[in-house]
Amino acid sequence: MRARVSLGGISFSGVSGWPVPHRGTGGNEWVTGRCWLYCRRENISVLWIGPIRAPRADGDLYACGQCIAELVHMVYEEQHRLDMPARRP
Ligand SMILES: [Zn+2]
Repeated sequence: MRARVSLGGISFSGVSGWPVPHRGTGGNEWVTGRCWLYCRRENISVLWIGPIRAPRADGDLYACGQCIAELVHMVYEEQHRLDMPARRP
């Protein structure tokens, strides 16, 4: 299963870090649907975050603002972890 997540079409609030409506053109549109990430809620506002290729089908990934913010937080956390010097035994 292969996913290509790109958050380039999403704007983020500088205060909360949560996705906000994109200004200008080319932004991902909010639609009502199911969150494919952590919460799995349905009939909520979600953003397209990229295509996914599964073994027997292709699809589009959508996620809610809360889960996108959590995903971005995990990316920052992992980047910070990789930037830290290795511990010596
Ligand atoms: Zn969610």
